Amino acid sequence: MTRISENLESVQTRVRQCGGEATPVRLIAVSKTKPAGVICEAAQAGQQDFGENYLQEAVEKIEALKDLNLTWHFIGHLQSNKTRPVAEHFDWVHTLDRLKIARRLASQRPTSLPPLNVLLQLNYDDEATKSGCNPADLALLAAQVAELEGLRLRGIMSIPAPQSDPQKQLETCRGVRLVFDELRKQFPDLDTLSLGMSADLEAAIQAGSTMVRVGTDIFGARPQPEC
Ligand SMILES: *Cc1c(COP(=O)(O)O)cnc(C)c1O
Repeated sequence: MTRISENLESVQTRVRQCGGEATPVRLIAVSKTKPAGVICEAAQAGQQDFGENYLQEAVEKIEALKDLNLTWHFIGHLQSNKTRPVAEHFDWVHTLDRLKIARRLASQRPTSLPPLNVLLQLNYDDEATKSGCNPADLALLAAQVAELEGLRLRGIMSIPAPQSDPQKQLETCRGVRLVFDELRKQFPDLDTLSLGMSADLEAAIQAGSTMVRVGTDIFGARPQPEC
């Protein structure tokens, strides 16, 4: 077995052990900064979903690996002048936080493709420097996005401030889950909570995450610095 398939297997085991059988948790392998060959290795080990942050390298890899029919998730910061490649190449977007960008993605989504699956990014900790929608503004944005043809609103995503204490991680993740449950009262079709990375996936799944985004623990550390 290769190192990547071993890593994948151990992450899958962690996901299974804290998730139980009832709700399957979808694992997104975050392959930013990693070459196409490494993604190919993970795909050969059975991994279907991949997450990318940086558009130029992402589009190159998506093109190079077209024949593998992988599912691509855009998880990086969305700039309004760079929405077109996202609309044209990705299956999911996790970082939608403004109506202006939603409208651009919707109008740029090719009609030959199924609607783009979108998650609204929640700025749960309310850090001024971080992107994401404030909890108070979430319901309005959801209502507006749900109206747009070309997009399919699936749920929310959040990146809580890093914490090493598992109990604190769990409290935060439960808070995010409550926001998701509240939104689902108005939008019962929402089925996705994208929450949890290498360092906090156990807490996230325990709190009810349905999708975890794991980079380091599958592909190893990334070169620094990065955004
Ligand atoms: C890089 C990144 C991840 C993966 O983080 P790891 O700690 O390497 O697992 C997950 N989500 C987002 C939004 C990221 O940018």
